[in-house]
Amino acid sequence: MISNIHTHTYRCMHAVGTEKDYVEAAVKAEMKMLGFSDHGPFPDKDFGLRMKFGELEDYISEIGRLKEMYADTLKIFSGLEIEFHAEYIDYYKQLTSEYGLDYLLLGEHMYTTSDGSVKNIFFAEKTDDYIEYAENISYAAETGLFHAIAHPDLMFINELAWDKNCEKACDIILSAAEKYDIPLEFNANGIRRGIMTFPDEQRFPYPHDGFWRNLCGSRQRVFIGADCHIPEQLNDSAIMLAQQMCKGLKLNLIDNILEVK
Ligand SMILES: [Zn+2]
Ligand SMILES: [Zn+2]
Repeated sequence: MISNIHTHTYRCMHAVGTEKDYVEAAVKAEMKMLGFSDHGPFPDKDFGLRMKFGELEDYISEIGRLKEMYADTLKIFSGLEIEFHAEYIDYYKQLTSEYGLDYLLLGEHMYTTSDGSVKNIFFAEKTDDYIEYAENISYAAETGLFHAIAHPDLMFINELAWDKNCEKACDIILSAAEKYDIPLEFNANGIRRGIMTFPDEQRFPYPHDGFWRNLCGSRQRVFIGADCHIPEQLNDSAIMLAQQMCKGLKLNLIDNILEVK
């Protein structure tokens, strides 16, 4: 893999390694580009297991320092993996304009439901929840504020069998990606979680075939995300397997979604 835009750091409190550790691992793996996308904080809300808002400036300045230091060897970008909540539209804009982040990676874990409550997609009780979840991803895509969508099939981590709602949720996300021309991430971290037992089959929680087979031979831009929480995961067997799976599925894999269109 020559590029990766899904990189975490110790700042999210469930990953290890400093920004510099990841840069060094990327150089060692002979990568050309590395984008940092640690779990993004919100100024007035703490969804847990993520960077503290007070660390944001330090994170950005450290990446800036590394950008200069490694200018000859590695292209470095600053970003955040962050959820979409409509009330934070101005904040997302601020992140790229005032804070100077290069990109925002939509990582929908917590989402706002129609009754205004916040749910975690890791704890869906029924596949009906997937529809609302997918609609949130679609709204996010429509804003044009996000450069790519991380693990668009994350919902399939739930122990629920495939049904019509799954089909429909995939359609909503895939149509939004096509309409707003947003690249989709084939996430290697789902592979690292290993084969799990679901009511109807044994499989990785994600990437899920039921989602990706819709893109066989399509022009939709797809990229592999390391979603690394340890520096070595920039270049591990999960990435290798992800590459093989993408080939098998005949996906339109692209290397550098931040530069090439
Ligand atoms: Zn994520
Ligand atoms: Zn994480």
